[in-house]
Amino acid sequence: MSTAYRKRVTLYGIGVSPGYAIGRAHFVDRRKVKVPHAHLSESEVPEELDRFRQALSVSEQQISDLKARLQSAGEEHYLILDAHQLMLRDHMLIDGTCQLIREQHLNAEWALKKVLRSIKQVFDNIEDEYFRERRSDVDFVGDRLLRNLLGKDQPTLDNMMPGSVVVAHDLSPADTAQILETSAGGFVTEVGGRTSHTAIMARSLELPAVVAVDGLTEYVGTGDVIVIDGSNGRVHVNPEPEEVQRYQQRQAAYNAERAKLDTERMSPAVSSDGIGVNVRGNIELPEEAPIVVEHGAHGVGLFRTEFLFMQRKALPDEQEQYERYVEVLDACAPESATIRTLDLGGDKLSNFVKIEDESNPVMGLRAVRLCLKRPELLKTQARALLRASAHGPLKVMVPLVSRVSEIRAVKRVFTACRAELQAEGVAMADDIAFGIMIEVPAAALIAKQLAKEVDFFSIGTNDLIQYTLAVDRGNPHVAHMYAPLHPAMLSLLSTITNAGREMGIEVSMCGEMAGDPMCLPIVLGLGLTHLSMNATSIPLIKTMIRNLDVSECRDLVEAVRDLPSNEQVEENVRFFLREALVGSSVEPMIDALFDDPSMAGEFIDFSPVPVKEHSNDDES
Ligand code: PEP
Ligand code: MG
Repeated sequence: MSTAYRKRVTLYGIGVSPGYAIGRAHFVDRRKVKVPHAHLSESEVPEELDRFRQALSVSEQQISDLKARLQSAGEEHYLILDAHQLMLRDHMLIDGTCQLIREQHLNAEWALKKVLRSIKQVFDNIEDEYFRERRSDVDFVGDRLLRNLLGKDQPTLDNMMPGSVVVAHDLSPADTAQILETSAGGFVTEVGGRTSHTAIMARSLELPAVVAVDGLTEYVGTGDVIVIDGSNGRVHVNPEPEEVQRYQQRQAAYNAERAKLDTERMSPAVSSDGIGVNVRGNIELPEEAPIVVEHGAHGVGLFRTEFLFMQRKALPDEQEQYERYVEVLDACAPESATIRTLDLGGDKLSNFVKIEDESNPVMGLRAVRLCLKRPELLKTQARALLRASAHGPLKVMVPLVSRVSEIRAVKRVFTACRAELQAEGVAMADDIAFGIMIEVPAAALIAKQLAKEVDFFSIGTNDLIQYTLAVDRGNPHVAHMYAPLHPAMLSLLSTITNAGREMGIEVSMCGEMAGDPMCLPIVLGLGLTHLSMNATSIPLIKTMIRNLDVSECRDLVEAVRDLPSNEQVEENVRFFLREALVGSSVEPMIDALFDDPSMAGEFIDFSPVPVKEHSNDDES
């Protein structure tokens, strides 16, 4: 045994996929490779050009191999690798590098590094989320080429011990391919967000994951013992043995309970005092519809159709959209599918729908506003939806509505399309439920007026919180202020549910708050009986509903509605949940909710502690 000093630390990030992973860290080293600088003689130039071309073709081949391995893993992974291959064929990259080798006699690595830097500068100067994402692709492609030139191995998971926790600054689509083939216990990255590639993959593989962990690669190396709590976004590095033991117990209870939840997931969600709650699923692609149903959803409560328009080479036409909507309706039958009209713009960009000169795009030409400005987009979608309505119970929902005139304008487009299709002899359902999302405070405040125009509301809490509290939902600097249980939110939510009740229309909730265990007593207490959430939240929320008494939840809402801060509301909810659920079957799934919240966001201890070196340790 030799002794090394390792840091003991708790780091915090965003828990993007729930559950616990405990194991040795496997560090995917994406630290920049050192680039040698050399001036060549004239006679060395042809060989250097060959060496560069050779590296290009090896890189192409590697990506083709990965694409073959990834074929079954979903189109979005595949398309990113396509983009990487296109970058390898880019003239600026190839000609620029060859020119520097030929004219300035730089070695290939140096020439390539210079060209990569100038390509990245071009991306940096474009104020566009889509292009900023492409910048990290330039890094991945550049890194692959440089490693091939230097004869260095690509960062790999090949020698990873089963059950290890993958730790990386960022994970590339190539790493994704490997994670699909290995038995990783979970993963943690330094960057990323709830909707990053890594997060989506973690949820679909049901592996615990935490992203956006500041300082991760500074503190963690291969061989460190690591515990990740994907439900609460915590990463414990080299914890005390007693803490590891505590987490092992949590993990065992969690896994056992999860397996049990899975067996009960198809039963209806009826509260202990007999209130039935309709739980549906949120999806981003039609392929997820059978997955949410499999997790116990009674149909789809939100299909974010804009994802059909992202990462694409061409816009989906009417026929393609129609087929995709039918796919969702078929998977939901006999339950309904709520399909949302396009919510492009803001942070959801497509390379076909470029909106110039918006300094504040989230408040700009987004969603229904964009659809009314570009009616051809809405018209194609309306025709596809109307045609699909012949195949099953369809509900159409419009996002980001803030005024009555928007609803009327969208309805006019649907009415015109219906007349057109009727004239063409196309079959359609006579009646399609037509609803709107309530996700702008103005809409909440005029909910009664809006209710006269529609069949249902669905509350989009992700945006409603962002716009009500003036807290950008993706900005880590103000993430601590993003509070679903802020008193202002409770007030707006009451306004919406009261308006729905008074006007006799269905009110559902499809923002993340609907699937958040901590918010559930408030959501039920406000009278909501239609919820829509991600697949992985469904079994837990359904079981929690079976263990809660809605009339007690109503009393809880009454007790907290006038409290001055979200912290005080949360404290009361925590107390309520502890009283209601400790000792019940769901306790292991939510016990972290009962932890002392004052610990959140703090480092607890990072003094060095001696630990035994592990055999697959890469440090000396
Ligand atoms: C919301 O805003 O809560 C919502 C469901 O819409 P999205 O997350 O797609 O903006
Ligand atoms: Mg929204």
